[in-house]
Amino acid sequence: MTPLVDRAIVVTCLGHSGSTLLDLILGGHPKIIGLGEVFSATGWLSRRKSNPSDARCTCGQNAAECRFWGPVAQSIRSAPNPPPEVRYRPVLETFATVFGPDSIPVDISKNSKDRLRTINTIRSISPGTDIRAIHLIKDVRAFVVSRSDRDRAKHFPIRPMLVLFWQWYLENRHIRRQFVGAGVPLMTLGYDELCLAPMDSVRRMTDFLGLEPYPSMSDISRTASHALRGNRMRLDPKKNRQILYDPRWLYRNEWVLAAALSPHIMRYNAREVYGNLGKSRWENPKA
Ligand SMILES: [Zn+2]
Repeated sequence: MTPLVDRAIVVTCLGHSGSTLLDLILGGHPKIIGLGEVFSATGWLSRRKSNPSDARCTCGQNAAECRFWGPVAQSIRSAPNPPPEVRYRPVLETFATVFGPDSIPVDISKNSKDRLRTINTIRSISPGTDIRAIHLIKDVRAFVVSRSDRDRAKHFPIRPMLVLFWQWYLENRHIRRQFVGAGVPLMTLGYDELCLAPMDSVRRMTDFLGLEPYPSMSDISRTASHALRGNRMRLDPKKNRQILYDPRWLYRNEWVLAAALSPHIMRYNAREVYGNLGKSRWENPKA
């Protein structure tokens, strides 16, 4: 059986780890089309009360007029209440028709209860698709500061920093174990190294994906993504024209005690988030 698409990229990470930015960067490659959070988009499109004219895609059109999500919306709405896994088929079929089967979709869907949902769904409806995963991991200090700011803004209970440190550590280790266990080729990428050295990170990603790197990938204003759902930065002209690093943790200090109490987490952080940056360029000037 011929796969619906030859290849697919799945981005996995904790919430607020920069996956929308990564989606836009990957979409700068002529063969790659970022689709944002696919399950969230198809869920939104399938709800009868949602009007596809209400949602904006990163291509600048609303969902009904987008050349990709428009046909997907029509197809999803023609079936009564399709379950999430069934809604994925028209996504891949439309993708192959609109962009060609050798173009590569990116899905940044998050599901903390079932991190392998996207992988298993693509495997079941399109056996033979070569799926590669990128585990995006944000500096634990940046993660806890942005998570506690979000909790505060939404009036959620404030969790101690040490609890957030452990949550970050255990969940990221769990993601790695699950993807490796499922036999999915996986690369780890630091969100921070992606922002600080975009072209180095682009080269590592395209190596991993077996593609040529393109300088256009570090210019997110030129992305060809069609992200309908994801972080709002995708539509914010102050944030979606260039790669911006969120520096809040650098001038805040609420993470300091938790970091001092968690040396093994800080070692893991240094290795996983900055493992590709440090030694190659800054610590060995002769190289
Ligand atoms: Zn679009």
